[in-house]
Amino acid sequence: MTSRPGRHFLQIPGPTNVPDQVLRAMSAPTIDHRGPEFAALTTELLASLKPVFGTTGPVVVFPGSGTGAWEAALVNTLSTGDRVLHVETGHFATLWQQMAAGLGLYVDFVPGDWRHGASPEAVAERLAADSARTIKAVCVVHNETSTGVTSRVADIRQAMDATEHPALLLVDTISSLGSIDYRHDEWGVDVTVAGSQKGLMLPPGLGFNAVSEKALAASRTARLRRSYWDWQPIIEANRRGFFPYTPATNLLYGLAEALRMLQAEGLPEVFARHDRHAEATRNAVRGWGLEVLCADDREYSSSLTAVLMPEDQDADKVRKIILERFDMSLGAGLGKLAGRIFRIGHLGHFNDLTLAGTLAGVQMGLQLAGVRIDPGGLTDALDVLRAE
Ligand code: PLP
Repeated sequence: MTSRPGRHFLQIPGPTNVPDQVLRAMSAPTIDHRGPEFAALTTELLASLKPVFGTTGPVVVFPGSGTGAWEAALVNTLSTGDRVLHVETGHFATLWQQMAAGLGLYVDFVPGDWRHGASPEAVAERLAADSARTIKAVCVVHNETSTGVTSRVADIRQAMDATEHPALLLVDTISSLGSIDYRHDEWGVDVTVAGSQKGLMLPPGLGFNAVSEKALAASRTARLRRSYWDWQPIIEANRRGFFPYTPATNLLYGLAEALRMLQAEGLPEVFARHDRHAEATRNAVRGWGLEVLCADDREYSSSLTAVLMPEDQDADKVRKIILERFDMSLGAGLGKLAGRIFRIGHLGHFNDLTLAGTLAGVQMGLQLAGVRIDPGGLTDALDVLRAE
């Protein structure tokens, strides 16, 4: 290992940079997870978690990754042989529907081109055609991390309501929660799936489900096998400030600190900061003469930007040069986008100069890789950052 001075730039779209305050909070001694001090921590934590999801209902916290929280959403609400509607927004939507099929559900997968979000019209069309009401849930990835496209969940809810179809709405907010405006209750979402390692500014290791009344009711009759992911014993133990098994105590310390930071900045301010950094990034991409992968300006992601390379250029070569020369990690193209795009993460603990440094590194990397770009791209981004 060579020693590299200065901070590594972790500009993948999660895990994100963990603030020093959060790291310090996590370094406190682990306490008895069955003692009174722990109960006080949990009670306060669960209360301050709700506004981040935009809910007044229960938020279930698992030691686990986002993939585990996907599974929890499915196994708590559905039964073997149920039909579920997934929408192909990209790599993560594809993985989630594969999991659903693996669990014994029948999946309708609405095809997509990986440049658009979930179409409210297409969802409504499928539901309207389901006169026997066999579709039990609609599953949507809010912010598709593989493409930098944000689906319009409120519009999807409206389109579902217009069909009067009773399907549950399950939404993956793994790369949007705490970065992009999101409202579990107001948008009528039944299960919101989240993870710790992106907008919440923590290391990987916690998964979340925010749960509506309707989803809780569904969980009482859902028959998919579940044990570790079962909401009921967790919600029950949470009432007393505990968990049914050993929780990730030190990650919970970090979560409490991260929530304090989000609260101190203010969620609307956090979202506006992400919107502004995303706009500056798109300015840079266009200024360079390259293309943003997201093809609909209503669906630009505020937490990451995927950059489409010219046909004759390899995105992974650019990422390798940037890592070796400038010690910065960028996101790779996933699935069918491998080598075609790279992804700039601009979410979490992030400010104007972190973005300026990130974009300067990307610009130099593109030039070193021999990609023909206009170096005015960086200035175009700085223009956004300089503006009030
Ligand atoms: N869904 C989305 C949108 C993601 O971005 C990710 C991971 O990046 C996942 C699901 C899977 O989460 P995890 O890797 O924490 O299991």
